[in-house]
Amino acid sequence: MANAFWCVVEDDRKGAPKKVMAEVIGEAARLSGGEVEAVWLTDKATDEGVKQLGEWGARKVWLLENAAFAPYRAEVWAPAIAELAKAQSPRAILAPVTSRQRELMARLAARLDVGLAADCMGLAMEGDRLIATRPVYAGKLLAKMAWAKTPWLATLRPNVFKPADAVPGRAAAVERPTASLPAAALKLVERREEVSTGLPELTEAEIVLSGGRGMKGPENYVILEELGGVIGAAVGASRAAVDAGWRPHRFQIGQTGRTISPKLYMGFGVSGAIQHLAGMRTSKVIVAINKDPEAPIFKIADYGIVADLFEVVPALTQEFKRLLEK
Ligand SMILES: Cc1cc2nc3c(=O)[nH]c(=O)nc-3n(C[C@H](O)[C@H](O)[C@H](O)COP(=O)(O)OP(=O)(O)OC[C@H]3O[C@@H](n4cnc5c(N)ncnc54)[C@H](O)[C@@H]3O)c2cc1C
Repeated sequence: MANAFWCVVEDDRKGAPKKVMAEVIGEAARLSGGEVEAVWLTDKATDEGVKQLGEWGARKVWLLENAAFAPYRAEVWAPAIAELAKAQSPRAILAPVTSRQRELMARLAARLDVGLAADCMGLAMEGDRLIATRPVYAGKLLAKMAWAKTPWLATLRPNVFKPADAVPGRAAAVERPTASLPAAALKLVERREEVSTGLPELTEAEIVLSGGRGMKGPENYVILEELGGVIGAAVGASRAAVDAGWRPHRFQIGQTGRTISPKLYMGFGVSGAIQHLAGMRTSKVIVAINKDPEAPIFKIADYGIVADLFEVVPALTQEFKRLLEK
C-alpha cells in the first residue's frame, strides 16, 4: 500500500523476530496511524514469528522465504527488497540499527535513489513530512533532517522508541511475493558458529556492563559476566580492550563498534573517550567506576564511584544477589 510504513524484520535466525522489532513496529504505527507492514526475508519463517509481528501491529507481512536469504548477504537481500518496494511504493522503510541493517538500508537507499537517516533517535510527522532526529559529530549534536522524496528510509536506535504493546489475537495478512534472486557474486560466510555467553545481547539489553582497559586482562571479564548473570546484563567492552584481544569486536561499544542505549550503563575501568561515548551516551542512567577521579566519563555519569573496580564488582555482585534472593 502506498501509504504503508514498512518495517524490515531483524530476526534471531531461528525464525523469530527480535524484540527490537516491537520498537520499530510501535514507532511505525504511531507515525502512520497503523499502516504498518513487515518485510521479512528469511530461510525459515515460523508461524509463531508471523503471529508475533501481527500482535505487535503489522497489518501485513511480506514474507520472502527462500534458502538463498541465509546467511544474510547484502547483494541478495537489497535487490529483493528494492524490487518489492518499487512495485508497492511504501511511504517509509524503517529498520533497527543492527550490523546487517546498517549495511542493508544503505544499499537499499542507493538502489531506490533516496536518502537514509541512520541511527535515528527521534521521528515525527510534521504535516505531511517525516522529520528525523539523529546524532552527528559522534553524538555531540543532534541534527534534524527531512527527505526530498519517498520512501523515507531510516534506521532506529534500539531502546529509544517505545515498543508496541502486543495485542493477543491481532493477526497480520501474509503475502508471499516471488523475488528474483541474483546469484551472489561473493560468498563471504563459509561457516557460522553460534556463540552464546548466556547473557542478553549487547544492543538489546536493558543493562550493559562495559569493561575497559582497567579490567587488566581477558581473564578478569569473568567477574563482569558473573555480575551480568545476577542482574541480567550484557557485557561489552571499550576499543582498548578489544584491540588488546581481550574481547571479540562484536562486544565493542562506541563509534567503531556497537551503539547501545540501555536503561542502565555501567562502565568499569573505562576512561570515557569521545569515541566510546558516541556509542553509549544516550543510555538512560550512566554509572562510572574508575579509580581516577579526573576520568572524563565522570562528566557524563549520573552516578560515579571513585574506586578500584576489583573491589567494587564483587561487592555489587554480592549485594545484588542478596537483594534479589529476598
Ligand atoms: C577513529 C577512532 C575510533 C575509535 N572507536 C572507538 C570505539 O568504538 N569504542 C571505544 O571504546 N574506543 C574507540 N576508540 C578509542 C578511544 O579513543 C580510547 O582509546 C578508548 O576508548 C580507551 O579505552 P578505555 O577507556 O578502556 O582505556 P583507557 O583510556 O586506557 O582508560 C582506562 C581507565 O581505566 C581506569 N582504571 C585502571 N585500573 C582501574 C581499576 N583497577 N579500577 C577502576 N578503574 C581503573 C583508568 O583510570 C582509566 O581511566 C577510537 C579511537 C579512534 C581514533
